[in-house]
Amino acid sequence: MSSILIFAEFSGGQLKKGTLELLTAARKSSLPLKAVVLGAGAKEMVSLLGQNGVEQVFVSEALTQYNSESFSGVFADLIKAEAPKYVLASSSMMARDLFPRVAAKLKCGVVSDCTELKFQTDTATVRKPLYSGKCTAEVKFENSPTQMILMRANQLPIEANISRKTATVTELAAPKTDLKTIVKEIVKGATNKLDLTEASIIVSGGRGMKDAESFKLLNELADTLGATVGASRAVVDLGWVPHSMQVGQTGKTVAPVLYIACGISGAIQHLAGMSGSKVIVAINKDANAPIFQKATYGVVGDVFEVLPLLNAEFKKLLQH
Ligand code: FAD
Repeated sequence: MSSILIFAEFSGGQLKKGTLELLTAARKSSLPLKAVVLGAGAKEMVSLLGQNGVEQVFVSEALTQYNSESFSGVFADLIKAEAPKYVLASSSMMARDLFPRVAAKLKCGVVSDCTELKFQTDTATVRKPLYSGKCTAEVKFENSPTQMILMRANQLPIEANISRKTATVTELAAPKTDLKTIVKEIVKGATNKLDLTEASIIVSGGRGMKDAESFKLLNELADTLGATVGASRAVVDLGWVPHSMQVGQTGKTVAPVLYIACGISGAIQHLAGMSGSKVIVAINKDANAPIFQKATYGVVGDVFEVLPLLNAEFKKLLQH
């Protein structure tokens, strides 16, 4: 019988939110659920995956650091051997690099950046935004025995399962060693906050913040709310913050529960990256700024007055 194979990702000893979303969605299909988890600490994920309804977990701790060549080789061999109907991953940077490579190796279909997922008898139907979110396309697979799908995080609900079953563990064959490139070291950024693509709350700043120093106000609010700080391209181009913080067409696509845009005008290229947010709050001193057309709630005001007040109110609320 065919199956669903989930490319599971983890961090700090926990499965990532995007993976938990996929596990919840996959449990609703009648197909057996399998998962592959790679990297140092992968084995610790086996019991968590079992609790989430996974029957069989494929692990390799030998693949310590992401390398597209070695990961795609091992992953493609696994898909060839298991022939799953669906292969799912959350749209992380790693999965976005890995999935198209594996799909090309196996000549199967891949759809990225999906925001809706439905399993039907023979195929999955997904929706994905096009043209910077101006419309969405419904995509179905044809003539692809294995269907590879990358879902945006924060699109699907998470339901706890807590099954008493234990997943069986299968160790994957060692990766090949004659690689064309070797990753020697990955230097983590200074922040221990969630990546923008996974964050439930984002506090984002634009040119209206005036200078890099003023991002302190955004960091303070983010600390109170447990949020991640994002930015518009204008401030990245000004060198106030790194490109990894950029939201938009040429930055990251985010879909948090709450997006607070501070001093951001709402250019179409910025909206392309954040209009999938559930609730958008805009703070801008220009009542005609385009961001207000997308905002759920708008504050016409100066960020330097509004942000400290907002932070103080949230602090009071969260203390109770
Ligand atoms: P501005 O447009 O200058 O807006 C600043 C806002 O701050 C104004 O609305 C102003 O009223 C408000 N403001 C000023 N002072 C205050 C204050 N004290 N209190 C409150 N509000 C205040 N942009 C992205 O963000 N992401 C992308 O990925 C991206 N990709 C692009 C790709 C291409 C090919 C191109 C051509 C452009 C791209 N851009 C992108 C740039 C985009 O077009 C805008 O230039 C950019 O988003 C503007 O950033 P901003 O809103 O911070 O600045």
